[in-house]
Amino acid sequence: MQAVIGKLTKVLDLERRQGYENRAVIGGIEAFVPRWLEEAEGSVSPSLLEAVKRLSSYDELSVAERRLRVAEVTALAAEPSPAPIERQKTSHARHSESDRSETSPPLRMVDDPDLERPVVHLRGVGQKSAKNLERLGIVTIRDLLFYAPVRHNDYSKLKPMESLRIGDVTTIVGTVVAVHKQDLGPRRTLLSVILSDTTGRVACSFFNQPYLERDFRPGRRIVVSGKVESWAGRPVFRSPEWEPVESDLVHTGRLVPVYRLARGVKQRWLRRQIKHALEQWADRVGDPLPQEVREREGLLPMPEALRKLHFPESEDAHAQAERRLAFDELLTIQLWSRTRALARKKMRGPDLSAGLDSMASFVASLPFELTSAQRRAIDEIATDLASGVPMSRLLQGDVGSGKTVVAAAAIVCAVGAGTQAALMAPTEILAEQHARSLSSLLGAIGYEAFDPAAVEGGGRSADNGIARLVGSMTAREKAVTIEAIASGAVSVVVGTHAVIQDAVRFANLGLAVVDEQHRFGVLQRAALPQRAVRDEAASDVVEAQPAQRPHVLIMTATPIPRTLLQVLNADLEQSVIDELPPGRKPVETRWLDARDRERAYQFIRSRVQAGEQAYIVFSLVEESDTVDARAAVAEHQRLAGEVFPDLRVALIHGRMSAEDKDEVMRAFREGEVDVLVATSVIEVGVDVPNATVMMIDGADRFGLAQLHQFRGRIGRGEAGGVCLLLAERPSEAARKRLEAMTRTSDGMELAQLDLEMRGPGDYFGLRQSGLDEWVHFARLSSAASLADAHRVAIGMLEEDPDLTAEEHRAIGERVAAFGSAVELFT
Ligand code: ADP
Ligand code: MG
Repeated sequence: MQAVIGKLTKVLDLERRQGYENRAVIGGIEAFVPRWLEEAEGSVSPSLLEAVKRLSSYDELSVAERRLRVAEVTALAAEPSPAPIERQKTSHARHSESDRSETSPPLRMVDDPDLERPVVHLRGVGQKSAKNLERLGIVTIRDLLFYAPVRHNDYSKLKPMESLRIGDVTTIVGTVVAVHKQDLGPRRTLLSVILSDTTGRVACSFFNQPYLERDFRPGRRIVVSGKVESWAGRPVFRSPEWEPVESDLVHTGRLVPVYRLARGVKQRWLRRQIKHALEQWADRVGDPLPQEVREREGLLPMPEALRKLHFPESEDAHAQAERRLAFDELLTIQLWSRTRALARKKMRGPDLSAGLDSMASFVASLPFELTSAQRRAIDEIATDLASGVPMSRLLQGDVGSGKTVVAAAAIVCAVGAGTQAALMAPTEILAEQHARSLSSLLGAIGYEAFDPAAVEGGGRSADNGIARLVGSMTAREKAVTIEAIASGAVSVVVGTHAVIQDAVRFANLGLAVVDEQHRFGVLQRAALPQRAVRDEAASDVVEAQPAQRPHVLIMTATPIPRTLLQVLNADLEQSVIDELPPGRKPVETRWLDARDRERAYQFIRSRVQAGEQAYIVFSLVEESDTVDARAAVAEHQRLAGEVFPDLRVALIHGRMSAEDKDEVMRAFREGEVDVLVATSVIEVGVDVPNATVMMIDGADRFGLAQLHQFRGRIGRGEAGGVCLLLAERPSEAARKRLEAMTRTSDGMELAQLDLEMRGPGDYFGLRQSGLDEWVHFARLSSAASLADAHRVAIGMLEEDPDLTAEEHRAIGERVAAFGSAVELFT
């Protein structure tokens, strides 16, 4: 190893003495570099390898750049190779002569357990710094390595001083000629440093950092990066990044990482800690991908990906690092969901074929013709329900496409076969609404609402009873209802997810319908049926039987691009209702400038005078429920008092009690309110056909899926709906969203766009779900890497369905860990 380094330093010494004319070796340094790299690979520190690689296009570099890069390499070459014991553990050290020809050395598959040590273990990180790092979520050494920069400053462009241009972001190398310290007042100082190179001089100023005087001793050579500013017409740097030439460049002269900081954590300090940590520890991070896969897919080895995540030599190298890290996450999720799909197919689901006749008569009883898309969905569901394998199906369709009728048909089938059905909604308003629409749809074929009070009073409980179960019921009502569900006295339960999941034990649950119109959270929902199984297992399940699980139907009005669904949740089959019932007019959407506010109000007034109703949706979004509610209250006062004093204006927001919300919705539905001012609580399934106008104030602050949801609230009746989007100062991205909203009302198209704009991690609500550490990088990746992960997962499972082969052990462990995280968080 010493010989290899000796060869390098000899060449570079000569080069320096000859004035960087690229005459030190025949063919030039650029020709020497690949030969040397081949020889040195695996036996010298990775940062030295990286630094030498930066000499690859030596012939194209300016003298200043040559000097800088040579200095960097020489400094690194002089460092003793890092901690011998640690090196031994890495595969680099074991890497033998014979396999040197391979493109990448074998890597360890699993993390060195020491990576889980707290950061205080690192040289340079004390107790106090460790506490500060905790504010950034960095506790272990591994956390520090994976703490991704928010961006990079491009300080890679090196310039001689004579050619600096005001406004450039650039790097210079120079010698300190003079330092001047000026007191500007109490604890205020200005340090002026004059630097020179062979072409000129430049001043740098540093405010309130008097201690830097020690670092800028005349004669010392430093590198400075930053924006060139102007002072009296001459270029200066104000508080630039800087570091000595002889150091391994961290803050200047390259793509420099910029991290999110916290109190007590300084940019320069963090950068240096991460740089050190990478040198010592990156090779000890496990690479769970089999080498063969990695090479075939053109993915970086894990340690290299980590180094390039922080200190890439180019934008492209950084993109490759992110791609690699995202790939692992996507592959893990993908393997998990496919494994689940395989497991489900081995489970037993209740055979509901006995209910198919009731289903058919229900469909025949409807006062309207089903659309052909609805009929197709019902056929697909019927096939599942009679198959003996538990259904796991997603029913997608735009708002108003008639999903509820389809779900009702499935419920009738389950009840007809003698089992129970549950319909769960995310909010109480929605649950109430579902209870109402089910009662009216199923009332026609003899279902009755279950009344806990009547049962308690000794009355007869209904056959085919439909029970409500929501948080706002009295404890007594709840207890009676829960008892009736457990005894099998009610057939259908409608309630919120929370209440049903927490409190209810079913006598015989055959079908769970989950309405998840908003915040889709595929993974959470997918985990739900397992819980039902566990509950059953707790009572009595015959050991020898395969596990039984109820059928699950998930309804969503947030369409999910088919490819994405396949990839992220292979365990969901899909039925799409891509057709609106006849006579439905699409909502006309207009994007207004904030100056058109008055006109928008006038328009609302005219529609109200014509006997229709309007929503004004309004939100500060993302701040907090409380802030949102307060703003909504103020806005309601303004609208009711100043804008529409002659109209009946009501308010609904998320902080109101369930009863109050219900009361407002009832009044609006019954036409006692003209204009409903609402925060985003309104977006889910609220259904008032006479409401035909919606104004969305601050439309730029909502995501596409949400906007589309809001819009679905209007135009449910005969009259065509009008949606007015108001945006004060929309960003570029917001303009794109608003433009898309006015252009199309096709939910699937909007979903595809939303996916492209936001990336899969955000899209799936994974980040809000407590699973965000599993989708840290996937969020940045494209649909293309999704498809790659999909393909690789299929291949791996075909070859090794249980992921037990040696080369799949590490990824298999990851998949298992992800599985338990999903259960933990759902
Ligand atoms: P979704 O749940 O998909 O938003 P709903 O099931 O609530 O839609 O249906 C919206 C309205 O359209 C309801 O009033 C429903 O009764 C009605 N509807 C559903 N299917 C049809 C159809 N095929 N023809 C006419 N009206 C329909
Ligand atoms: Mg609906």
